[in-house]
Amino acid sequence: RPRVLSGIQPTADSFHLGNYLGALRNWVQLQETHDAYYMVVDLHAITAGHDPAVLRQRTRVGAAQLLALGLDPERCTLFVQSQVPEHAQLAWVLGCITGFGEASRMTQFKDKSVKQGADRSSVGLFTYPILQAADILLYQANLVPVGEDQRQHLELTRDLAQRFTSLFGPAFTVPEPYILKGTAKITDLQDPTAKMSKSASTPAGIIELLDPPNVSAKKIKSAVTDTGREIIFDQANKPGISNLLTIYSALTGRTVDDLVAAYDGKGYGDLKKDLAEVVSEFVAPIQEATRGYLADPAQLDKQLAVGAEKARAVAAATLRTVYERVGFLAGV
Ligand code: ATP
Ligand code: MG
Repeated sequence: RPRVLSGIQPTADSFHLGNYLGALRNWVQLQETHDAYYMVVDLHAITAGHDPAVLRQRTRVGAAQLLALGLDPERCTLFVQSQVPEHAQLAWVLGCITGFGEASRMTQFKDKSVKQGADRSSVGLFTYPILQAADILLYQANLVPVGEDQRQHLELTRDLAQRFTSLFGPAFTVPEPYILKGTAKITDLQDPTAKMSKSASTPAGIIELLDPPNVSAKKIKSAVTDTGREIIFDQANKPGISNLLTIYSALTGRTVDDLVAAYDGKGYGDLKKDLAEVVSEFVAPIQEATRGYLADPAQLDKQLAVGAEKARAVAAATLRTVYERVGFLAGV
């Protein structure tokens, strides 16, 4: 079986529809056909300041949501990144073969450091794509299901894998991104040209999987829409309505064309009202299952520890090869 790996950051109290439609729904599917490794990447969640108790809670809520979405520890390896120390160890080695200029070209750093200013941003935020490369390469992943925003980091990962091979010899599989066309970038409801983001969007811009129905309905109702009244799919000129149509289509399985035909002659308000209904029906069972997993945190932690142990066996084997190739003395 080809291997797949991906991660998600516990940077909010809930994951959002962009995470689900861009990445997580692929995770669930790929566990059926691939040897799948999925993780909550808590090391990545401390790059921009955090509260320890909140992080611990978000890591559990994140894992619970992944289980609620259908990840099955019998069919995939689900774990928490910090419980596998090899991630940080490999990141150091990869950091030493990454150019400073190369790292400076990562657009996510530019986007995310806008608020604090690049000078005030942490070095961790700057180097996080290198840690992400380590996350992927440790598992010899063939395929990495992510949203469009991660394409550049995947490219860096591939470059680093190839560079390591040419410097020291083979140690890694060169991974391919797996990006879904239609839903690779779900946009912010309040700013339909920016991606919906856990940490960068305002609350009104995000539909969280754990939003109560009245909250998500309100957000959808106040979503920024475009001038004109016609419901058509046109991402360049009507990004707001196009985003709503994309979400609607992805959650119901109806094609965008079908929706456009069905809403011919109707208004934005009708579409929003129906979409609110669709969303609340979609999230209801996820919310209930998430609550179920969180009701027994000891059991949840145990499951994650088992996942970490399985993951560590693979990660440790890769790191041993890397250390050997780099010229470190054999471990004791
Ligand atoms: P943060 O703002 O903290 O970076 P995020 O919303 O970008 O949070 P991540 O944890 O960084 O979420 O990413 C998890 C996965 O979700 C990644 O595969 C990413 O590409 C995907 N993803 C994130 N936002 C979107 C989006 N708006 N549309 C489609 N996919 C997305
Ligand atoms: Mg992100």
